[in-house]
Amino acid sequence: ATPTSIMVGTGRAAEMGVLFRKSEALQRLRDVSVVALDKTGTLTEGKPALTDIILDDDFEHDEVLALVAAVEARSEHPIATAIVTAAEKAGLTLGAVTEFASDAGNGVTARVDGRLVAIGSQRHLGHLDFSDFAQAIEKLADEGKTPVFAAIDDKLAAAIVVADTIKPTSKAVIAALHELGLKVAMISGDNRRTAEAIARQLGIDEVRAEVLPADKVDTIKSLRQFGTVAFVGDGINDAPALAEADIGIAVGTGTDAAIESADVVLLGGDLKGVLDALVISRATMKNIW
Ligand code: ADP
Ligand code: MG
Repeated sequence: ATPTSIMVGTGRAAEMGVLFRKSEALQRLRDVSVVALDKTGTLTEGKPALTDIILDDDFEHDEVLALVAAVEARSEHPIATAIVTAAEKAGLTLGAVTEFASDAGNGVTARVDGRLVAIGSQRHLGHLDFSDFAQAIEKLADEGKTPVFAAIDDKLAAAIVVADTIKPTSKAVIAALHELGLKVAMISGDNRRTAEAIARQLGIDEVRAEVLPADKVDTIKSLRQFGTVAFVGDGINDAPALAEADIGIAVGTGTDAAIESADVVLLGGDLKGVLDALVISRATMKNIW
């Protein structure tokens, strides 16, 4: 492409709310074969709400919700926000928290009024027996909902289920990426069943689920088996993967860390900008303007 067409392409993109931070990105984008997208906050709104609490017989609803919310009030994870909001709506009083600890990509643990409370993925509570919950949980996960588990004094007390909303344009954008001949992958820290259900709803080709924040970079590297990789993300956790990808695309509603690590920034939260960026890149490289 000529310097002039790159300038025009960059300008056209900016008018559409797609900011190329480096002009090489406009050239490299033409070579992309696979577009990988983060799930929470990128394909979905990233604002889950609590939908179900499935209790063990030895525990009571408000007791569990109050204990769990007290711990989650210390966490900034979207699941934590969903749980705290539900406890507030129920008018529950939260106890005093000590010894709070957070394990990124797994969950949180603390003492609440002396009781030991742990919330998170099955992996976070790996030594407990989940068989009583399995059936109910699988059904909810197949609907695309996310179950996390609460242990109180080292007894499995409840499965807490949250549901996020898919953004209105996600499905159409993925269909359009397929029409451009691209492979579409989704990367998520969420459990496999939930991630696969969402991927099915969206028509995604490749799912990488239960990916720890520290493993996102290796996941991008492994996707290079399909060719040049563009990654679209929004979270602090996504910053290293955005830097690793051949093209990092940050959602404008995302965190500063994501935006600073990206080659391309989409103003607003609409993924349609990913398509605009690809189409403009192809036109520019053909010297169409
Ligand atoms: P994602 O951004 O895809 O949600 P994370 O790495 O942030 O991925 O989290 C992965 C999983 O770890 C969550 O689906 C949940 O099971 C568990 N988890 C992490 N933080 C928390 C928390 N504060 N409360 C409950 N579960 C958590
Ligand atoms: Mg995210």
